[in-house]
Amino acid sequence: MSNILDSDIKYLPGIGPKRAELLGKELNIRTFRDLLYFFPFRYIDRSRIYAIAEIIPSMAYIQIRGKIIRMETMGENPRNKRLVVKIQDATGVLDLVFFKGIKWIQEKIKTGQEYIVFGKPASFNGTVNMVHPEINPVTEEILYGGSSMMGVYSSTERLKNSGIGNKVFSKFQLSLLEKYIETVPESLPAYIIERKGLCPIRHALKNIHFPTDAQALAEAQYRLKYEELFYLQLSLLKQKSIRMRKDGGLVMGKIGENFNSCYRELSFPLTGAQKRVIKEMRADMLSGKQMNRLLQGDVGSGKTLVALLVCLIACDNGYQACIMAPTEVLAQQHYKSIGKFLAPTRIRSALLTGSTKTKERKEIHEKLLSGEIDILVGTHALIEETVQFRNLGLAVIDEQHRFGVEQRARLWSKSDITPHILVMTATPIPRTLAMTLYGDLDVSVLDELPPGRKPIQTLHATETQRGKIFRFMKEQIKAGRQVFIVYPLIKESEKMDYKNLEEGYALITEEFKAPEYITAVVHGKQKNEDKAYDMELFAKGKAHILVATSVIEVGVDVPNASVMIIESAERFGLSQLHQLRGRVGRGSEKSYCILMTGYKLSKESKQRIELMCRTQDGFELAEADLRMRGPGDLEGTVQSGLAVDLKISNLAKDSQILENARKTALNILEQDPFLEKPENALLKRQLSVLRKEGKEPVDFSRIS
Ligand code: ADP
Ligand code: MG
Repeated sequence: MSNILDSDIKYLPGIGPKRAELLGKELNIRTFRDLLYFFPFRYIDRSRIYAIAEIIPSMAYIQIRGKIIRMETMGENPRNKRLVVKIQDATGVLDLVFFKGIKWIQEKIKTGQEYIVFGKPASFNGTVNMVHPEINPVTEEILYGGSSMMGVYSSTERLKNSGIGNKVFSKFQLSLLEKYIETVPESLPAYIIERKGLCPIRHALKNIHFPTDAQALAEAQYRLKYEELFYLQLSLLKQKSIRMRKDGGLVMGKIGENFNSCYRELSFPLTGAQKRVIKEMRADMLSGKQMNRLLQGDVGSGKTLVALLVCLIACDNGYQACIMAPTEVLAQQHYKSIGKFLAPTRIRSALLTGSTKTKERKEIHEKLLSGEIDILVGTHALIEETVQFRNLGLAVIDEQHRFGVEQRARLWSKSDITPHILVMTATPIPRTLAMTLYGDLDVSVLDELPPGRKPIQTLHATETQRGKIFRFMKEQIKAGRQVFIVYPLIKESEKMDYKNLEEGYALITEEFKAPEYITAVVHGKQKNEDKAYDMELFAKGKAHILVATSVIEVGVDVPNASVMIIESAERFGLSQLHQLRGRVGRGSEKSYCILMTGYKLSKESKQRIELMCRTQDGFELAEADLRMRGPGDLEGTVQSGLAVDLKISNLAKDSQILENARKTALNILEQDPFLEKPENALLKRQLSVLRKEGKEPVDFSRIS
């Protein structure tokens, strides 16, 4: 069933092997179809010509029409060498500035002739100009197929440098559409198109690139968004419905001795939210189906205890349970904190991590097989092949985004039976995104913090205030509190980041001298023992300050710490900042989060910092993060294993379409769970195409 649209992009006239390679690398465009489905991200009304006198720097892309009156190169050294082209209309003169491709412009543009100039106004030294605008002869109307709305394609620096800018994209799209649109098969069944009032695919593709008018564009966008979200939901829901139809979920009906004695001895009541989610999970565990649930809860909402109580249900019904954490530090922390809760029970727990000694490891392996260990806490070490359980009934995965999909899948081979799965995340995921990413999971939300938490005061500071901050730290330490100082660690600039951390550590130990002050340090380059030792120092209150990379982001619980200082805060995303901030405010004292940034901030960083100072609501922050960064980025931080590549939908804006598409998908699956009816043959085929292209989201439970 090969189609001309599957052809390698290099065969499209005007592209060739070199540009094809670049398109593949930069934008993942490899075939005719990829290009055809590379949509403009914005449209410009080309019917409107602005007068030069009315232009202000805050305008978006606009068009002007005028005569070139002068061209001159300015600046001596290569760094500021530029070509300034002056264009005049009846109302004034505007500078068009070029730093690159100067020679080409000089050859192409003729003084005294009239052009249509298209670009974004900017301001330089108080005057308005345009940098690198597009310049077209007045006659060149052909390109846009008579359309007054022009699509703008996002390009990259490297593509632009090799001549693939907006105009060229338009040209490619036009030639694709002219030659091949008739070969594009309809990709939604007729009954959906009819019932939902969607336009046909060919109409949509033509108008998404070259809209005849605003109405046609809206129709095209709606159709393409609907289709994209519909197939995403259909595949997720189909996976889920297959799971729900399979029996063989372990039935765990009993609430027994261990659960009860742990529960009775708690020094605080469970929050309403904790009770509710435990009930939800209990219902799953009684249903005879495999539980596959996501537990979402803001930092400090008490997920660990929920996980433990659910583990105890499994144990009381004769099964083993495991809790898997993303880092060694966290696994230890979990082990310790559940240890306290387990004291009144008969549960035997063990810790297995990368640094567990061989002898002990062997013993753990044996006890797991013989059933002498009830709850195993661990890291990746837990999913090594040698680890086998006697009867694993429940697997809890904490902070799941640190685990790859494959690693998760390996858990299921640990035992002959299919365990229930509980995935926990502290990343607040907006509802729309959760539906998209985890459509196959049931979601429980811990939307209530234990009582008595004090709000965390968040402040923004720059280097000039360092002295003041040091004084503040000393006050807090004197009052018996502890301080976190966190440095960013970004993969691409790891070396630099470690350097910053080392310098920061030196600065701190210089100012906070031992033995009066003890400073611990934790980062990824340390040996595990050193890391554990320093962590322990801080956790036990023996160190006053902990200098760390963002490894402490997840889960560390030191209630006595009251100050979180985040260095280069502008380099963190909102969700991450929120996670870090959640490390303080866990005790009874008032807590502070200080966001240190450079002096100059981009508009967006400034917004982020301001928002952090204003709100502590994780969901509000996550929604804002989604709006500011787009789902792509957030997704990366949420769940790198689930590659959901949305071409046109915007999860922040298209939630209505998503819900609508989801309902349709649900209805279809209710009546035809395996998509076997003739009218659904197309759906089945499309899903298998998605799967082949690796665009289908991955099934969490991997039960087959
Ligand atoms: P999370 O993992 O959701 O960030 P934790 O499970 O680490 O949160 O819980 C944070 C702290 O709150 C822990 O010290 C825990 O013992 C405590 N905690 C949990 N549930 C409650 C509750 N219902 N009331 C008071 N404190 C609680
Ligand atoms: Mg936790």
